Amino acid sequence: MKTPVRVAITGGAGQISYSLIFRIAAGDMLGPDQPVILQLLEIPPAMDALKGVVMEINDCAFPLVQDIVATDDPDVAFAKADVALLVGARPRGKGMERADLLQANAEIFSVQGKALNDHASRDVKVLVVGNPANTNALIASANAPDLDPGQFTAMTRLDHNRALTQLAQKTGKHVTDIEGMIIWGNHSATQYPDIAHCKIDGKAAADLVDQNWYRSDFIPTVQKRGAAIIEARGASSAASAASAAIDHIHDWVLGSDGIVSMAIPSDGSYGIEPGVIYSYPVVCQNGGYEIVQGLDVDDFSREKMTATETELREERAAVENLL
Ligand code: NDP
Repeated sequence: MKTPVRVAITGGAGQISYSLIFRIAAGDMLGPDQPVILQLLEIPPAMDALKGVVMEINDCAFPLVQDIVATDDPDVAFAKADVALLVGARPRGKGMERADLLQANAEIFSVQGKALNDHASRDVKVLVVGNPANTNALIASANAPDLDPGQFTAMTRLDHNRALTQLAQKTGKHVTDIEGMIIWGNHSATQYPDIAHCKIDGKAAADLVDQNWYRSDFIPTVQKRGAAIIEARGASSAASAASAAIDHIHDWVLGSDGIVSMAIPSDGSYGIEPGVIYSYPVVCQNGGYEIVQGLDVDDFSREKMTATETELREERAAVENLL
């Protein structure tokens, strides 16, 4: 039997985790022959709910689950963790400004960064899902000086997957026919879903769809998809967020099939401010990822890429005291 992989998940009693944990336990993230140890973190008021989640995991009798840890102590949750999914975050309360939200989450993610630094595997792969995900990842990384900043990533894979489906439906193709989708920047309404480098069955996507549809329909639809789902179902898009988190880690660990989008520390590629956690086109192999270099950037794309970079710089400035 393979050595079990320790997977830490924060916000273990939340909506996203309620979908995420069971798919990880079934082998969807790390493979059908990879045993896992689930290390679930919650805040004290949610520990009863977490107990219920653990009862349900046990009731599934998953062959791959070797052990389950449920705790409100980050040092315990992240002990020897190989993969850390930081899902739990403070939701925006009534009357809370964006700066207040950033600050409240900054405190949570600085504590978690320290705990990862002190207790996780030296090779831990961290994915931040909890919003504002990019800046939360930056804070966690800044508080983990013994880990490589490249080990801290944030999720734009849901935006990437949403963009694939919008384009597939518009062109009457399947998502698997599309290569080269890119989400640039922040996981927020400023993100830039870019089809300039997309090919559908080998043909340039930009030649197959009307520019007007691309700019006035596709981009805002992808940017505002989360709100549209809340409107339709009366609850947020938890299952698709969980599925995207699984895709992100699956590809990082096991390799991607072509280009995928991941928010990672900028190294200055494409003229983006170094250090901010910016979503780039990457290819994953051998447990690592590399930014796809050398893509042409036209004026339209540059403007969009800069707008989302500016927002990330502003978010970073708002939490400077915790970096
Ligand atoms: P969810 O599980 O629905 O969401 C968790 C986080 O993921 C939120 O920040 C949410 O952002 C974000 N998110 C990212 N993408 C999406 C998406 N597509 N759809 C929905 N959410 C998305 O939240 P719950 O409130 O159900 O659960 C959060 C849990 O985390 C609670 O049980 C709480 O107790 C816990 N928590 C744990 C902490 C810890 O472990 N230390 C700290 C803080 C909270 P957005 O708010 O913008 O939707």
